[in-house]
Amino acid sequence: MLERISRFFNKNKDLNSTGAYVYGPSEHCLSPEMINRDASKVVSTLQNAGFEAYVVGGCVRDLLLGLKPKDFDVATSAKPWEVKSLFRRSRIIGRRFQIVHVQFSREIIEVTTFRSNENQTSNKNQRQQTDSGMLTRDNVFGSVEEDASRRDLTVNALYYDPSDNSIHDFTNGLDDIDDRIIRIIGDPSTRFREDPVRLLRVARFAAKLGFGIESSTAEPMKHRAGDLQQVSPPRMFDETLKLFMSGNGLDTFKLLHEYNLFEYIVPQLNPMLNDHQGVPLKLVTQALTNTDIRIRSSQRVTPAFIYAALLWPAVQRLANNYEKNGNSPAYALSKAAGDIIAAQVPVTAIPKRFTIPMREIWDLQLHMKRCGGNRAKRLAEHPRFRAAYDFILLREQTGEDLDGLGDWWTQYQDADEDQRQSMAEDVLNSDKRPKRRRRRRNSPKPENG
Ligand code: ATP
Ligand code: MG
Repeated sequence: MLERISRFFNKNKDLNSTGAYVYGPSEHCLSPEMINRDASKVVSTLQNAGFEAYVVGGCVRDLLLGLKPKDFDVATSAKPWEVKSLFRRSRIIGRRFQIVHVQFSREIIEVTTFRSNENQTSNKNQRQQTDSGMLTRDNVFGSVEEDASRRDLTVNALYYDPSDNSIHDFTNGLDDIDDRIIRIIGDPSTRFREDPVRLLRVARFAAKLGFGIESSTAEPMKHRAGDLQQVSPPRMFDETLKLFMSGNGLDTFKLLHEYNLFEYIVPQLNPMLNDHQGVPLKLVTQALTNTDIRIRSSQRVTPAFIYAALLWPAVQRLANNYEKNGNSPAYALSKAAGDIIAAQVPVTAIPKRFTIPMREIWDLQLHMKRCGGNRAKRLAEHPRFRAAYDFILLREQTGEDLDGLGDWWTQYQDADEDQRQSMAEDVLNSDKRPKRRRRRRNSPKPENG
């Protein structure tokens, strides 16, 4: 596909009146049929009403690269209320950044009015910035050219017009796609300060597309990493899902680590990554590898499992400390889990619907060790059993010695009712054996249960 793009490009591009390079139908590999029907309908309705409208952003980028777009976004000169008046099933959403959702039977098309990046301090209601330069409201409308310059990356600022099959390029985004480069638009430091989430987006798209990060974009990234602390915890949580649950989690993590961004995502894990011969690093690497494989084979993944893995080394360490202070293993684990989650939530606001299963996965690590009698049967019916079993396998994959626990549960699940019964009885018997033997000196070590 890239070869195809290169072939199409003619380097003697003409600028149109808005300052864009306009690539005609023979100069790129897109065609109107590639655009989702509902997005095309939104564009044509807006254009027929006299407004400018384009399909823009990630979908144009992905189609040029032969990837399947996640969603189709539309950008227009129509103001939010003008868009709303054209579509019966539509509503204006957002305060910080107003957009219109147009509802179709299958999906929602997001319609954004062209924004300007200019500072119009005369109207504080439209654009607000903190003292450090972070944008807290961005509703100053502008031209399509201005809209291109306020977008994050050149590869995300391509405007496709299905009506004449042309691509309008204000920032040399097509060249960067061709050269496989992630480049932030404008002055990198300023743009990162305005919205530190762009740091994460650079890492995410570089990993997703396998592109290199252009040097002046990369240069201020480590220095600006601390700005992530200013991003609201709910937004940070949403962004972490995109980082780790889009199928390129491991590559994204490596870049986050390289640019010192990871320490602002899971601060409790970051300093531990290389402890214990790098076991925590192995755990995260393996968890993300497994997640990437699951996503690519369309299996379900849950943020609870990923966060359970990301926080496990910290939970384990704290639980050990509590145990050393004389608490029971169950109490120590529960207290550590509560403390670690309480410290993570102000960074990435993990909702309760995920923290509860996280704690269950951790608790089951303890309960699943003792699986005699009817206990195994009950545990296997626990709603979080499958995740907890996968978590045991993950820990073993990472090199933790759990006395063959993963194998035991694998066999248990494959066994019929009679075999299960005898497996559980064996555990009960082997549980009893060591107690009797403990009284005898020089007794041989009990066999693994
Ligand atoms: P994908 O949907 O595949 O993850 P995308 O590029 O479409 O990628 P979205 O988050 O859907 O990403 O955003 C749509 C477009 O809005 C982007 O392509 C980019 O042009 C612009 N955009 C998104 N977030 C920002 C930001 N923080 N700063 C500037 N522009 C942004
Ligand atoms: Mg998108």
